[in-house]
Amino acid sequence: MTEELFREDATLRECGARVVELAEGGVILDRTVFYPQGGGQAGDAGWLELGVGGRVAIVDARKSKERPGAVLHLLALDADASLLSPGMSVTAHIDWTRRHRHMRFHSTTHLLCALVPHPVDGCSITADYARLDFHMTEPLDKEVLTAGLARLVAEAHTVRHRWISEAELDANPGLVRSMSVQPPRGLGRVRVLEIEGVDLQPCGGTHVSNTAEIGAVVVTKIEKKSAMTRRVVLGFAA
Ligand SMILES: [Zn+2]
Repeated sequence: MTEELFREDATLRECGARVVELAEGGVILDRTVFYPQGGGQAGDAGWLELGVGGRVAIVDARKSKERPGAVLHLLALDADASLLSPGMSVTAHIDWTRRHRHMRFHSTTHLLCALVPHPVDGCSITADYARLDFHMTEPLDKEVLTAGLARLVAEAHTVRHRWISEAELDANPGLVRSMSVQPPRGLGRVRVLEIEGVDLQPCGGTHVSNTAEIGAVVVTKIEKKSAMTRRVVLGFAA
């Protein structure tokens, strides 16, 4: 089990941690600032600074398949794994430039959910683009959506997360926007992400703290993926 510091504070760029074990091509730490790929959002990259000196590059982060609750920090192909051993102290650093782009795009996808009131059946958030698939048949307009996003960004809405009980979630089924990503169950509580006055939905991802932090985003493409799916692709304005 890895303590996931990013769930409470997405602005943490580094943390002290201890190596638990080396497994599945990566390193498991007792705590981390690395977001593991999930909920459509790409995993973090970065490096581990060794207490004894030196560093090891991390190319991605995933949820461990073999150890539920553990975050796997994937080593670069040329990384020297022999530098690491269980019990060792490290400082985990994320590539903040990349992560902040994930955060800006992730918050934008939630704004898009407010502009397009249809169920989501797919989502991908990377540092270079984000895309959201809506289950709908009506056409969407690129310029109208871009203008809608610009307005919500300029309005500077506060973004915050909180935890609600599963019972509270069950009493409000309308909260679940996504057909493909159901909130994790069995923990007794579910993390919800609120963009004040705009959107509220279960989400485990990392977000900006105010929509103004998103900056200039544009809808670069709208595709008809199938009879029942409209795909909206987002990019940062140059
Ligand atoms: Zn989300």
